[in-house]
Amino acid sequence: MKEPTLGNPQNTIAVLQKYQFTFQKKFGQNFLIDTHVLDKIIRSAEISKEDMVLEIGPGIGTMTQYLACAAGKVIAVEIDRALIPILEDTLDGYDNVRIINGDILKIDLAKLVEEENGGRPIKVVANLPYYITTPIIMSLFEGHVPLRSITVMVQKEVADRMQAGPGSKDYGALSLAVQYYAKPYIAANVPQNCFMPRPRIGSAVIRLERYETPPVAVKDERLLFGIIRASFNQRRKTLANGLKNSPELDFTKEEIEAAIEKLGKGASVRGEALTLEEFAELSNWLCRG
Ligand code: SAM
Repeated sequence: MKEPTLGNPQNTIAVLQKYQFTFQKKFGQNFLIDTHVLDKIIRSAEISKEDMVLEIGPGIGTMTQYLACAAGKVIAVEIDRALIPILEDTLDGYDNVRIINGDILKIDLAKLVEEENGGRPIKVVANLPYYITTPIIMSLFEGHVPLRSITVMVQKEVADRMQAGPGSKDYGALSLAVQYYAKPYIAANVPQNCFMPRPRIGSAVIRLERYETPPVAVKDERLLFGIIRASFNQRRKTLANGLKNSPELDFTKEEIEAAIEKLGKGASVRGEALTLEEFAELSNWLCRG
């Protein structure tokens, strides 16, 4: 396998100039130009030759080269058609890489994993396009794509939200959704100058280790997430009001108040004070099934 050639500003600029590539803001294109950060991502993802890796948004193929050296197989899904001839050039000689031109949110990933890896769990590694970070992470979890871990570069504030617990200003529906499916761990903070072009704010590498079974037992996952969304939709309202006002839920005032009381909480409690375990208990009490 060839040693990676990309990962520094000079070689990135040379590739961009050769193909007269222009950055597309709408695709969230901020390419990595720092080999230390690339090494750190690969180490944090704990990839071996046994692994199949899905890379979302390979750009000009910088991280793809590193992934190809570490993994058994890499599937790289890139939306921007202008990048495909570039990827064919920069990944020439890396014969364990398959490039797919498509939108990650429209591809049937469970089917792809079945075809490419016999349904065995994969690892996802990416420097994610920031405009769709949350939809990508949630579709990986909720689509029940077989996966062991997700190691991704995201905006620092999004990484903080994924890892936050009750009592923190960053705690919300994203924290609870992520922590229901996975154990989060921030592996590194990454400054703006590690990217071309420079993003406006700092980034972080977060690793989400998928649980085999969720840490809480719920009778109805959809209800759990409906309750979580309702609790944080109106952050300054009490939990009881949030649940009563939600168009997604149809519980009576009495049912809601009784469930909150069973939880051992006062009538004025807010959603942001509840742990994942407490949300699970609440949803089980409210579940009619
Ligand atoms: N991995 C490269 C790197 O680190 O240098 C590029 C990362 S850049 C932050 C995000 C990449 O995702 C871009 O190449 C962009 O074109 C691609 N992208 C954006 N939206 C996408 C989508 N819906 N599906 C697949 N790729 C997408």
